[in-house]
Amino acid sequence: MFDVTAVGELLIDFTPAGHSARGHALYEQNPGGAPANVLACLSRLGRRTAFIGKVGEDPFGYFLARVLTDAGVDCRSLKKTARCHTTLAFVHLDAQNDRSFSFYRDPGADVFLSPDDVPGEIIGKSRFFHFGSVSLTAEPARAATLFAVQTAHQSSCIVSYDPNLRLMLWPAADEARQVALSVMPDVALLKLSEDELFFLSGEADLQRGAEWFFQRWPLDLILITLGPGGAFAATRKVTASHAAFAVNTIDTTGAGDAFMGAFIDCLLRINRDLASLTANELGESLAFANAAGSLATTRMGAIPSLPALAEIEQCLAECPLLQ
Ligand code: ADP
Repeated sequence: MFDVTAVGELLIDFTPAGHSARGHALYEQNPGGAPANVLACLSRLGRRTAFIGKVGEDPFGYFLARVLTDAGVDCRSLKKTARCHTTLAFVHLDAQNDRSFSFYRDPGADVFLSPDDVPGEIIGKSRFFHFGSVSLTAEPARAATLFAVQTAHQSSCIVSYDPNLRLMLWPAADEARQVALSVMPDVALLKLSEDELFFLSGEADLQRGAEWFFQRWPLDLILITLGPGGAFAATRKVTASHAAFAVNTIDTTGAGDAFMGAFIDCLLRINRDLASLTANELGESLAFANAAGSLATTRMGAIPSLPALAEIEQCLAECPLLQ
């Protein structure tokens, strides 16, 4: 019995690590993959989590399995394949420390997750199921993800979705939008960035964008992260916003995943149906999740940068708000 299970990509993020004596860029091997990051965050906060995915039977795959296991995530459903290599992503930081990616995934091992690899009984017994759209880009991972989502939806499991759109992994932007939205009938909790809100709904305004989703699908809760601008939350009845915290930001990789993991942790603690959350509960959960997201920007990489509960509590008490 798990608090949260997730399906998706597990890969290496090569993050910038200065320059060699000859002036060439150096990269550090960091574990990454959004759904795995969210689980690692939840495990760090004491939750029982399980990951379903596929890596290559290569040193990177073994490294990832070890890191995720050491992070406290159950990896019995993390499969290995000899058919192709573990997926790699290189992270590039611009002058504002915002990131872009180069992916080495044509294909990568995560794409070979098949419906047979998905343990439906484990998903069905979890309180939350979390996924993204990177595992929807190609078959058989798309079929595996859709099977997992449907299994979760048909059980009493709360389905949580962070599209985490990476357009360079799709043949065309139209297809990305259409497939990313095709899962919405099964989703209860949706997390978006501002860019994703605009790309999917055509709305830049947060409230109108949330309504665009509520009018079309039966979801209960929408979260929109705004980078240093904090985050916004809406149910059908109430909304809340909260600022981010002023910290020494060096790398925003994994900030959204830390935010998401911390927010789900709050929902597990509140332990009520999402539709009935009060504005106060949303506001407090946003503060906690923003603190986790802000702290994740103070260290390089995704999983290695996840904060512990004591750090989040200290940030809530001591860090000034941004804005
Ligand atoms: P995503 O990675 O999904 O795009 P964001 O970049 O919006 O997510 O970051 C998630 C959360 O992390 C934000 O809501 C905010 O709380 C925090 N955060 C992100 N960037 C910064 C920053 N530069 N300074 C402080 N907090 C930040």
